[in-house]
Amino acid sequence: MLKIYNTLTRCKEEFVPIQPGQVSLYVCGPTVYDFIHIGNARTFTVFDMVQRWLKSSAHGFRVNYVRNVTDVDDKIIQRAAENGEPIDTLTERMTEAMRDDLRRLGLESPAHEPRAVAHIDGMVRMIEALIGKGLAYQGTNSDVFYAVHSFPGYGKLSGKALDDLRAGERVGVDAAKRDPLDFVLWKSAKPAEPSWPSPWGPGRPGWHIECSVMSEVFLGSHFDIHGGGEDLQFPHHENEIAQSEGAHDHPFVNYWMHSAFLNMGDVKMSKSLGNFFTLRDVLNKFVGREEVIRFFLLRGHYRSQLVYTEEVLNAARRELDSFYIALRDTPPTDGAIDFEWSEPHAARFKAAMDDDFNTWEAITVLTELRHEMNKSRSAASAALLKALSWTLGFLQDDPDRYLRGEPSLAPEDAWDHSSESIDDDMHLIVNSASAAPQGIPGARVKQLIDMRLRARKAKDFAEADRIRAELDAAGILLEDKPGGVTEWRRR
Ligand code: AMP
Ligand code: ZN
Repeated sequence: MLKIYNTLTRCKEEFVPIQPGQVSLYVCGPTVYDFIHIGNARTFTVFDMVQRWLKSSAHGFRVNYVRNVTDVDDKIIQRAAENGEPIDTLTERMTEAMRDDLRRLGLESPAHEPRAVAHIDGMVRMIEALIGKGLAYQGTNSDVFYAVHSFPGYGKLSGKALDDLRAGERVGVDAAKRDPLDFVLWKSAKPAEPSWPSPWGPGRPGWHIECSVMSEVFLGSHFDIHGGGEDLQFPHHENEIAQSEGAHDHPFVNYWMHSAFLNMGDVKMSKSLGNFFTLRDVLNKFVGREEVIRFFLLRGHYRSQLVYTEEVLNAARRELDSFYIALRDTPPTDGAIDFEWSEPHAARFKAAMDDDFNTWEAITVLTELRHEMNKSRSAASAALLKALSWTLGFLQDDPDRYLRGEPSLAPEDAWDHSSESIDDDMHLIVNSASAAPQGIPGARVKQLIDMRLRARKAKDFAEADRIRAELDAAGILLEDKPGGVTEWRRR
């Protein structure tokens, strides 16, 4: 039984999806005015791990995973002006950079990655509905505000009472609002800022409304899991609840998940404090071994704070190296990928992951398997290690390549082009004759075909289809031959 710690109830609860066999998951994505930092990457990696586990053969859910892109915001407007570049050029550049960085970190693309500017109409409609229900009003400065005192459940996620918030004087007085705690839904246009027409005059949406609207478009008005970093509990997620439940009069989200911060010392890594490393810079320190960063980020439990230091990263590297050394010295047997979750190591791994995604404990089980492999040289244990690690996105690389630290996008001749057997009934043929030096390198094609075969083996057909589409977009055609053989050629 999978248990999830629900921020709303402050306890671990059995996970029961709204639709049997299906999970709807929404995660607040980045504000695209700059490169993402490794703290942001922690949150996105945590939810990548969550969706992998839900999809894995341990549960076999179909997961509709949505992670939005915030592309209208004060910081974006300011940065574009500083750079002297159009806003959409900046946001497109930074969205692409974020996708590249997260791909290098081994994250799967969400099923949907909606951008706020494409959903302004929906936001206007939701604000109209909230005004119609007496939950929102136009302030004296023409901005539209949510009247928090009109929503009885306000504060239920973060455990904050309205009176405490007021008494704490944590909010400044703003003459335009009826209550200093009211938050903005629609900001009226200022000179030289992007704006859209609305019943309240030209303007742009506040940040919170975008997630209420985009989650509804892709997941409906009541869905299973909503995630983000712990800083989003208040006010962002509290405000999302007020908007969505206020508009629809029924529960918005069943399970709220918040991942803890990545810190620099005792302090949250953040752009505004200037104490950050971009993910890109850290990836560039580990070219050919980018997986080390993923390992570092998932080594601890997602609700425990993680401190970024070079030493901890290097310790993660040594640990991951020892896994790859074990796999190099004891290659898994073909066909042993089929395992039962009742196998003792697999059962303990599953119990750890089912206990609110305890990756720390799960990796401890992998370490025990590694010790056993080093003693017994058991190819079956190696295969099990690889199969379990697949669910976390680890150890799927070629050990020799990883240990040589060669970039994953290695030149063609870094690989031998012989047929390679994945398991009894699935074989990969890397077709050297058609390998051209330009375009996506053969090494990467081989890796992706391998990943696709493993996804199919794990019955993760959505992921298998996604990989096929990714290869297709890169001009690589796959042909599944009888007997589980996959051949490829360039278009
Ligand atoms: P932002 O672009 O600032 O809206 O952040 C995008 C996501 O990264 C949100 O889910 C934040 O909660 C998360 N985040 C920001 N800083 C950190 C950090 N230091 N550690 C973990 N997550 C973070
Ligand atoms: Zn959000």
